[in-house]
Amino acid sequence: MGTIDGLPPLREVIAAHGLVAKKQLGQNFLLDLNLTAKIARCAGDLTGADVLEVGPGPGGLTRGLLAEGARHVVAVEKDPRAIPALMEIAAAHPGRLTVLEGDALELGVAAHLTGPVKIAANLPYNIGTELLIRWLSPKVWPPFWDSLTLMFQKEVAERIVAKPGSDHYGRLALLAQWRADAKIVMILPPEAFTPAPKVHSAVVHLKRLEAPRFPCDFAVLQRVTAMAFNQRRKMLRSSLKGLGPRLEEMLEAAGIKPTARAEEIGLEQFCALAREVAKG
Ligand code: SAM
Repeated sequence: MGTIDGLPPLREVIAAHGLVAKKQLGQNFLLDLNLTAKIARCAGDLTGADVLEVGPGPGGLTRGLLAEGARHVVAVEKDPRAIPALMEIAAAHPGRLTVLEGDALELGVAAHLTGPVKIAANLPYNIGTELLIRWLSPKVWPPFWDSLTLMFQKEVAERIVAKPGSDHYGRLALLAQWRADAKIVMILPPEAFTPAPKVHSAVVHLKRLEAPRFPCDFAVLQRVTAMAFNQRRKMLRSSLKGLGPRLEEMLEAAGIKPTARAEEIGLEQFCALAREVAKG
């Protein structure tokens, strides 16, 4: 049966290249090209955009991104077995796909991309959070990306979009929402993947804001939220002791009760506290 882009179905690609999924590389492949095109559409209008994809594997999402009109896709893949399959996609779309073999945690990609960059990926579960935190952490504003459309385990997705008072609320929600609007846009059952993982997955779309949601130094916000949520059930006057003798004064100036717990405090107050801490 033909496919939307005239290339072989993904099951044939996997068989032809011996791409038996490896657990240590977090390989759970999407084989339905209608589904990968739908995920690509979650990234918004791709026409005229450069897209960075991490972990293309056999290329299902890559083909979705190209079918949805991405100007140029830069795909970083660690598994050398997947490279020939990806080169076939590149040959079918001259000048629109650059395949880079390497570890996304180590490889510099900036030289291959021109803005506005959209990042889209079905991330390997073992490095997904680390990559997200890196994309949320650049010192420069704006960051090099315009939006992130990322597949995570559903529980991680819930931690990114969580609001105060929820069990999922913590550092990841605060860091993500400081810089972006974050929404879960799709939930996928385990059977959508080959092999099927144990848990549901979800696509999160993060659209960066024009300016930080509330002013503060990001590194200080990271430090304060790490301290507060390391002991999330404790009162802040105890979990934040490391901030020094002026702690209660700083909490008061930020409008935070010293007896409150981290999970009750919103982003605006955490940013106010980060500003107080930065004053020294
Ligand atoms: N995008 C494909 C799809 O949706 O079917 C594959 C997704 S699979 C969940 C994750 C992919 O990331 C695999 O192809 C794996 O080899 C790749 N990968 C794992 N660790 C990586 C790393 N450090 N850098 C780049 N790619 C990595």
